Amino acid sequence: MKEVLQPDYVSKFACITSRCEDTCCRGWRVAIDQESYDKYINLMNTGDLFNGKITRDDIMQVEGAFAEVVLSDNTCPFLTEKKLCSIQEMYGESYLSLTCAIFPRNYNMVNGKLELTLNMSCPHAARLALLEPTPMKFSLAEIKDDPRIGKIPALDLSDPEYPNSVYPYFEEVRSFIVTLIQNRNYCFEDRLVILGRFCNDLNIADNRSGSDAVIRLINSYTHLIDNHGFDKFISSIPDQPTALLKTLMILIEYRLKTGVTGKRFLECFNQFKQGLNYTNEISDEDLSDSYKEVKSSCYDNFIKQNEYIFENYFVNYVFKELFPFGESKTIYNKDIFTVPKTIFTEYMLMAVHYAMIKNLLVGIAGYYKDQFGMQHVINLIQSFAKNIDHDVPYLQRLLKFFDDNQMINFACTAMLIKN
Ligand code: SF4
Repeated sequence: MKEVLQPDYVSKFACITSRCEDTCCRGWRVAIDQESYDKYINLMNTGDLFNGKITRDDIMQVEGAFAEVVLSDNTCPFLTEKKLCSIQEMYGESYLSLTCAIFPRNYNMVNGKLELTLNMSCPHAARLALLEPTPMKFSLAEIKDDPRIGKIPALDLSDPEYPNSVYPYFEEVRSFIVTLIQNRNYCFEDRLVILGRFCNDLNIADNRSGSDAVIRLINSYTHLIDNHGFDKFISSIPDQPTALLKTLMILIEYRLKTGVTGKRFLECFNQFKQGLNYTNEISDEDLSDSYKEVKSSCYDNFIKQNEYIFENYFVNYVFKELFPFGESKTIYNKDIFTVPKTIFTEYMLMAVHYAMIKNLLVGIAGYYKDQFGMQHVINLIQSFAKNIDHDVPYLQRLLKFFDDNQMINFACTAMLIKN
């Protein structure tokens, strides 16, 4: 057995297999690690289960992807009619590729301690994590040991790659950030904006040596937050509801054109467009009017009462992504990592996640009107996570776009979040 730190909802999870409405075997590409690939090649001589179903051509540019499953109608060809995995049925769990064996689990090793969260791209995990109104809590649990866990990315605070940086303060920084995201004295967007300022300042501290400045920064922010010292600054952020909406939608449409996209996300995107009467030709003025009207009549009230969904999503995100530091070394191929990874680029990605989810939800609320409810929020967040969250090359291209347009700065992220 192995000890693991995890949010409490994780212990309630078990795959619901054939009852799953958006199975992980459909709607996205499935990477195969080299060890599993070698096993499958050996088995090709003993039967035809694998023939023509595995390729090494044009595979995803992520580390650990040695081959890929050849999808059939956007679906894994190993999925049986009963929605079970034929590899597992015929050869047992040890023959599953690393990706399939651990999904939807996400492991991190932080200073030798194992941590576990679930990916929100699994609908059952998303329901368990997001629909709990009380703040997400973490505790230690015991799990079955698995040699594959040794292959997961690790954050090692004693790594000499990070001398004089803020990494020694990982625990303190993360604890501060989770407390801030769960601080219900502020509306959720204000918490995210304060977090942006904090990450901006932390980024500067990261470039200095002798960083006990980090502890002073945390103490000063804690004091200001307790005393509403950011209120004036937050109210000064300009109110331009649709300033970046078209840009975000063009970026999502670009993703739809360039990658495999699940049916559920396409449905959500079409509902969003219909809800706002959004077309590529719509004028800025008409879009602005439609957005404002839908947001105030169909979205604001609902989300005000259910902000804990966003809170839970981003607490899970912070934990899963080791935010705002990420893994000590990138697990992704360097040549797709075009924008240097910093604390602030990590925050930028978080802000874009929020802005995209929120704006899509506003349109979907307009589509369903007074029928808009939790199920629609879960459908969108889960399918968004499945199609966008896991697409690392796309996330890199997003950062490149913002970098090319000089938008990786605090003013731009505040506008993304608040507008
Ligand atoms: S998405 Fe989640 S619940 Fe559905 S089949 Fe995959 S692991 Fe199971």
